[in-house]
Amino acid sequence: ALDFGVDTALKVLGIKKTNNGTSTGSTNFGSGEEISSYSPVDGALIAKVNTTTNADYEKVLIAATSAYATWRTKPAPQRGEIVRQFGDKLREYKEPLGKLVSYEMGKSYQEGLGEVQEMIDICDFAVGLSRQLHGLTMHSERPGHRMYEQYHPLGVVGIISAFNFPVAVWAWNTALAWICGDVCIWKPSEKTPLCGIACQNIAAEVLKANNLPEGISCLINGDYKVGELMTNDVRIPLISATGSTRMGKIVAQTVAGRLGKSLLELGGNNAIIVTPDADIKMTVIGAVFGAVGTAGQRCTSTRRLIIHESIYDKVKTAIVDAYKQLRIGNPLDEKNHVGPLIDTGAVAMYQKALEKVVAEGGKIIIEGGVLEGKGYESGCYVKPAIAEAENSFEIVQHETFAPILYLLKYKGDVTDAIAIQNGVAQGLSSAIMTNNLREAELFLSANGSDCGIANVNIGTSGAEIGGAFGGEKETGGGRESGSDAWKIYMRRQTNTINYTTELPLAQGIKFDL
Ligand code: NAD
Repeated sequence: ALDFGVDTALKVLGIKKTNNGTSTGSTNFGSGEEISSYSPVDGALIAKVNTTTNADYEKVLIAATSAYATWRTKPAPQRGEIVRQFGDKLREYKEPLGKLVSYEMGKSYQEGLGEVQEMIDICDFAVGLSRQLHGLTMHSERPGHRMYEQYHPLGVVGIISAFNFPVAVWAWNTALAWICGDVCIWKPSEKTPLCGIACQNIAAEVLKANNLPEGISCLINGDYKVGELMTNDVRIPLISATGSTRMGKIVAQTVAGRLGKSLLELGGNNAIIVTPDADIKMTVIGAVFGAVGTAGQRCTSTRRLIIHESIYDKVKTAIVDAYKQLRIGNPLDEKNHVGPLIDTGAVAMYQKALEKVVAEGGKIIIEGGVLEGKGYESGCYVKPAIAEAENSFEIVQHETFAPILYLLKYKGDVTDAIAIQNGVAQGLSSAIMTNNLREAELFLSANGSDCGIANVNIGTSGAEIGGAFGGEKETGGGRESGSDAWKIYMRRQTNTINYTTELPLAQGIKFDL
């Protein structure tokens, strides 16, 4: 680890390693059994982390609830000032945090830095928003009455996040929840617990400098069982959960069972439509980055290319050529394009998917495989693969969280391509490559893409924080980040004020006493 400067990064981020390898940080950490965090980069044990027990969880909840009582009374712009300071701290810690993200999760260092940049961007967005938590005013039907609506804080927000964006997803939720007057309890993925501790330490530093209780930001650690403590807890009005559709279905039912609110950001099965009017060069850049970036472990990764038959061979040849130039290896080395998968379990799923696509009649045109030898000791490095397939294949219908790209052919016009694009259970991100205005507008119309994100002449992968982020169907329907996504973190109240000496009833109802 020393070679990559990761040990220094850990130290700077306040993660101390004790003799038995246990990480310690500030308060709110568990006393339960240990989980080990191994780096997919080199297979090394980075550190062990104690999980949260039921008793620890109760303490955290009490700390959060008591912090909420003071935090919600602070004027929103003052809460924004705390988020501004948090954003500044992230600027200070950008390099070490980006490095830890890269080493613990396996994405490239550039993408690790990009993830921290997203955290900074959402803080900036939230600071401005802290002066714009607007409600509406309405005209009352009754004389001498005024009606308006306002937004109040909701309470304790529970955040459950996935391994692939080990820090940004937390910040997307937290920065908005904080300016809205909520406090947060975060359960990061059990695969990236150190990223969680690092973020908690940064947040705690800002809170302490402002004499605010650390309960405003709480961290709990462990697997789904620790997550379930929150999803079952009536004291948590909102659960924001990012992860697989399988997880989302369970979380949605549990939270709905107690009539809580959930914000779900689940799996995608994202496609780019390539029409005869596409710019092939742009298509190749968008598709290749979308398919192999973060080793295909982005919720917005490009999984399907839907190509018109008239340009199919041309696009196929260009993509295959580009794949031949990909360099796979240590993600902390900027020369490499593709890093490792998160763990050997993910590698097994990748291998199974490749077997399945062949079994279903698909044709592999860029061979996959697991890399061995020097630099690949972790066993997590795989070759990005391409298969020609049909949309109806069971494996194509399914999100495999790995760098496998399916090429699908369409005949006829763009409506046929849109039908293929929409013909999956997921609805996160979609794109069309075309210089034809009619095709582009149709794709964006009510008859077009059914996804939460629909792009023209850019790929499916990556998003800016200014827009609302999320998807439809099995992607869960939640929206995070920009636009008016903040509203889910608040409760809406409608107020009617009577400033007369009469008490007229609505709808003209008479009730004489
Ligand atoms: P995962 O579903 O295995 O785990 C996600 C989180 O949920 C983890 O913290 C896990 O401990 C927790 N969890 C699992 N079951 C739970 C339960 N029953 N109750 C409470 N918590 C539970 O997902 P993963 O492998 O970490 O991440 C990959 C998945 O996440 C992919 O499907 C990807 O598309 C999706 N993802 C979606 C978005 C989005 O914004 N739509 C963003 C990132 C990742």
